[in-house]
Amino acid sequence: MILELNGIYAGLRFSAAHIVFGHDSCGVIHGHSYYVDVKLSGEPSGEFGFVCDFKILKQIVKELCSELDHKLLVPRDHENMEYSMEGDSIYLEYVEKSGNVKKYMFPVEDINLLPLKSTTAEDLSIYFTNYIEDKLQKMDLEKSIEWIETTVNEGIGQGARYTLHLK
Ligand SMILES: [Zn+2]
Repeated sequence: MILELNGIYAGLRFSAAHIVFGHDSCGVIHGHSYYVDVKLSGEPSGEFGFVCDFKILKQIVKELCSELDHKLLVPRDHENMEYSMEGDSIYLEYVEKSGNVKKYMFPVEDINLLPLKSTTAEDLSIYFTNYIEDKLQKMDLEKSIEWIETTVNEGIGQGARYTLHLK
């Protein structure tokens, strides 16, 4: 049995800015309206025969969407990007292939520094999937789940999908 949440219709969305460091056009700060679709495969179980309670799953995804909403998403683990804190600001330096250094400074509250190598739709889909798995596991709800699949859409019509197999 597959449980499905459609991000557009279920309100699983956030707007955020990011930088794909090194990319010709996407290496400039820009934003997307993101939609997050989730699929869970598993056996119906418990009193109600649920794979997972929709309400719980939506709440988990909405939590992460609201953490990312209206922030600049910065990949903490990018190999050519360094960051440091300067009071209430965060200072970023990205070294381009040419050796040129791009420098940025932002208020800390405008940033979400993520434990990722990049903030592409690909890496965000892995981040969402692992986040969902972690929350379900902490609530002891992952036992009947076979796999979790998350699609992070950068607007309508393009997205990256990641599947995590639990069994
Ligand atoms: Zn982008």
